[in-house]
Amino acid sequence: MSRLADWTTRKMGKFTLRFQPYTLEMNHVFTVASFSRTSTPVILTELEYEGVVGYGEASMPPYLGESQQSVTKFLNKIDLSTFSSPFDTEELLHYVDSVEEKNTAAKACIDIALHDLLGKLMAQPFHKIWGLNARVIPPTSFTIGIDTEEIIHKKVLEAEQFKILKVKLGLDTDKMIINTIRSVTNVPLCADVNQGWKNKEQALEMAHWLAERNVVFIEQPMPKEQIDDMAWLTERSPIPTIADEGCQRYSDIIGLKHVYTGINIKLMKCTGMREAKKMAELARALDMKVMLGCMTETSCAITAAAQLAPIVDWADLDGALLINNDVYDGMKILDGECHLPDRPGIGIHHLFTNT
Ligand code: MG
Repeated sequence: MSRLADWTTRKMGKFTLRFQPYTLEMNHVFTVASFSRTSTPVILTELEYEGVVGYGEASMPPYLGESQQSVTKFLNKIDLSTFSSPFDTEELLHYVDSVEEKNTAAKACIDIALHDLLGKLMAQPFHKIWGLNARVIPPTSFTIGIDTEEIIHKKVLEAEQFKILKVKLGLDTDKMIINTIRSVTNVPLCADVNQGWKNKEQALEMAHWLAERNVVFIEQPMPKEQIDDMAWLTERSPIPTIADEGCQRYSDIIGLKHVYTGINIKLMKCTGMREAKKMAELARALDMKVMLGCMTETSCAITAAAQLAPIVDWADLDGALLINNDVYDGMKILDGECHLPDRPGIGIHHLFTNT
């Protein structure tokens, strides 16, 4: 069994922050349009206040530009000693956001730990504090990476519990992948192209082809810089288009209103639960669709994200299923449905400790 390393501990007034690097080992090589990998670096955090501990996590897939080193550097820069209460949440997170321009995953590991701490201090699960009904979470999709026909066939058979599958597209194997999946199952699919299509006419042709095969939306079909092409495609596409790489934070949304049908919110892109909730509400107010996604993460960040899942159209929260060394017990996926723990904060427990 995996064991945790030693925590780095920083005492800051009434708060104590602990953090350590950890490496998630993936069950399969994971391939999308731009890269392949077998592990994901994360940083685990604990934020303690008056003897109560909140758990947090930063996940850093390499293409996002953060690393264990950059997150550690950020966490060593934070000084919470001027804050006297975790209930000064807005002020505290505004400060954390102001320390550096980027570092969104580093900011998220503090935000998640703070929300977990707040929920524990209030003795309520965070979705209940938000007033959200855990029984109306959409079924999560399960991701099938780009692979050979034989392996895709096998992976789809293994994923029979899921009511919706997410398919990675964007190379020249797109039609083979969809045809292979359709030879096994008729469940709805969502396609994530990861910016892989460069030509708008071909993208539209593919959108029609996919719609005829019960693909319900297309995530990031074209490069995020091709705003005009994306708007052209969205206007004509028979199925919704969703911004992922093209939408990081709250301030991005307003400019995307006529460019995509909806947005994919991820805690690691947007600095955590507080901004994610605001993003979901703004997108709704703009009549845009909302998808809730994740990176490869432990059940910590996944269960934190899932607190928001009752108000989204689509949930893509399979990140902890892709690894074989999770650290926490949290949200459960049974028959493709998400079940949130009815425990205070984000509701997770350690699966193992050093002691
Ligand atoms: Mg995506």
